Amino acid sequence: MSTILYSHPVCQEHTNSPDHPEQPDRLRYISNVLDGPSYFMLDRRDAPMGQIEDITRVHDARYVDDILASVPTRGNTLLGPDTGMSPASGEAALRAVGAICEAVDVVLEGGARNAFCSVRPPGHHAEYAEAMGFCLFNNIAIGAQRARQVHGCKKVAAVDFDVHHGNGTQAAFQTEPSLFFGSSHQMPAFPGTGYAEETGVGNIVNVPLAPGAGSEEFRRAYSDKILPALRAFEPDFILISAGFDADARDPLAQLRVKTPDFAWVTAEILKVADEFCSGKVVSTLEGGYDLDALAAGVAVHMRELMGI
Ligand SMILES: [Zn+2]
Repeated sequence: MSTILYSHPVCQEHTNSPDHPEQPDRLRYISNVLDGPSYFMLDRRDAPMGQIEDITRVHDARYVDDILASVPTRGNTLLGPDTGMSPASGEAALRAVGAICEAVDVVLEGGARNAFCSVRPPGHHAEYAEAMGFCLFNNIAIGAQRARQVHGCKKVAAVDFDVHHGNGTQAAFQTEPSLFFGSSHQMPAFPGTGYAEETGVGNIVNVPLAPGAGSEEFRRAYSDKILPALRAFEPDFILISAGFDADARDPLAQLRVKTPDFAWVTAEILKVADEFCSGKVVSTLEGGYDLDALAAGVAVHMRELMGI
């Protein structure tokens, strides 16, 4: 069965502010590599517009209205110290939501084995009523709620290997035992949450890694902590917050993860998906700010998803 790649040209137009690291070139570098001959089998689809009712399963309705009403007609509007919008941002954010919702639908209905959403803005820092960390809407939590509430999934897991803690996803999951969140991340680092002691209702597994930690510590976080907990949870669907800023080359963090580690972690998550949920996985892009490292990480992530 196929792997779907969702994206949309408007996701390359969104900007936070001039010279911001979460920049349009991120998607340009990714599409340059995925346009290569190894990836001809990808089922490429334009991300549809997301629906407001999907977003308000996770976010305050007034917040959603405010974000969409604040999209500037020119220049950039800042929503906080590090997060902003340009004229394309409202549609880009809705396409990022639409990508994950359609990916969830198609994979859960058996129309594809798995899918990757190559979209911006990212989502895992977005809180119930607050944009932060370059994120407007929490794509991964929105996808998880769609899986539960539209498709009747009983146990939805999200695994987050972005170098930053997915505070927004944790907040959306932490009181709900039918959701699981496992995250490896640098600490100390933005956003300051993600201590091992933050366990929700026994459904949150945080593995903080010290600056300078590399392949060995990263893989051990999964082998020793996150993957055993994910297996114990017995997911019927798995989402991945795929950030590539744990790479040693990334300018925003200080871990020393290497490209093959992103292939390894993807393969390990897929093994769990094969054991518990017929391989059903949907992955969406989060961070990754060294453009070459990002493209290389996405390339190996896609190869694992495609099984090539
Ligand atoms: Zn990040």
